Amino acid sequence: MVSTHPSREVFVMNKHFLTAWFVLLGFIALCLPVHSQTPVETWGQLHVEGTKIVSEQGEPVALRGMSLFWSQWIGKYYNDECVQWLKEDWQCTVIRAAMAVESGGYLQNPDTEFAKVETVIEACIDQGIYVIVDWHDHTAENHVEAAIEFFTTIAQYYGDTPNLIYEIYNEPLQVSWLNVVKPYADTLVSEIRAIDPDNLIIVGTPTWSQDVDAASRNPVVDDNVAYGLHFYSGTHTQWLRNKALTAMNNGAALFVSEFGVCESNGSGDIYYEETEKWFDFMKEHMISWCNWSIADKDETSAALKPGASATGGWSEAELSESGAYIRDTIITWHDSSNTSVRPEPGPNRFRLVRHYPNPFNEQAVIQYWLSEGTRVQAAVFDVRGHEILNLLDAWQPAGDHVLRFNAHTLPSGLYTARLQTGKHCQQLKMIHVK
Ligand code: MG
Repeated sequence: MVSTHPSREVFVMNKHFLTAWFVLLGFIALCLPVHSQTPVETWGQLHVEGTKIVSEQGEPVALRGMSLFWSQWIGKYYNDECVQWLKEDWQCTVIRAAMAVESGGYLQNPDTEFAKVETVIEACIDQGIYVIVDWHDHTAENHVEAAIEFFTTIAQYYGDTPNLIYEIYNEPLQVSWLNVVKPYADTLVSEIRAIDPDNLIIVGTPTWSQDVDAASRNPVVDDNVAYGLHFYSGTHTQWLRNKALTAMNNGAALFVSEFGVCESNGSGDIYYEETEKWFDFMKEHMISWCNWSIADKDETSAALKPGASATGGWSEAELSESGAYIRDTIITWHDSSNTSVRPEPGPNRFRLVRHYPNPFNEQAVIQYWLSEGTRVQAAVFDVRGHEILNLLDAWQPAGDHVLRFNAHTLPSGLYTARLQTGKHCQQLKMIHVK
């Protein structure tokens, strides 16, 4: 009689076959790249709520990234590889394509300049980051028809992707908000809204995007507009932050679509102390920002040294001092909209109490507290991320501790101290002024 039940041999064979199959599946799973959510997957369609830009779920979001340089002059960084590098290595969540309008820009070469912007938009969509399409003009009120043609095309092509942010006027000159810039903005916003009802629009403000207070007194009638606020730390200080506060008190949302760490002409020293004040301000108010600029021009604000590769992959030697500073700032930025998984001190185990003074002249004091005895490693890094001093690597008991960083032989500049206990790590920035 033929049995209808599988024999024991067949059962054992099947069992071994299944085991091998599961092991193989497990191996394949381990080999697959781990997919973490992109910024756009995390936050989706952005919109303005009160003075904040918020995610699709209504949580405040602050984007951080880089502006490219005028497209007609340094267009070589308008490519996929560069965008991918800025996302993966710099951890940018937004890139700004600064499409030139005059001086050989869109007005003279519309197809060439449009193609550059389109390449950047497509690359940002591929990378899952936000993209600002910037009409990089100082007299846009004289180019209304061209601006309408450009932005309605962009809206038709990309208005249904959450990645897109319109910036319809980079920096108006010292003209009237009410009589010049607002009428232009009203026209452009209404043309865009006829096609795309919901993507964020940034509106530049008079005096090179400083008069956000004027805009806030007579805002554009649209529920998804933020106003462009631009600063250069060597030129614009507390008085401009006060204008920003006035604008926010009047209910305006702001977007720092361009800023530099030097003077407003793009040159001079790096103003670390003032830049850190701006960073604190933007953190406190959850203001998104793009630094000017990804360029290999010989000027302070350019993030790259002359001749730096057009396709990313930049070594430390290819970054300028400001580029190294901004890259480090983006990577170590902490606010409630941070997407990256960063090492944080564990609850009640390790806490950095404070460091003082900041800026410091000769010696910085770092205070911290441990809930239990543990090995503590502490080191100081320069602005390029090179370790310049090993402060401590030792077991320490629970309680309060102090470390001192003597910098009298070191040049002025920005230094980062990193403290680590096991897997918990915290970093702090210290400005050394001689
Ligand atoms: Mg849309």
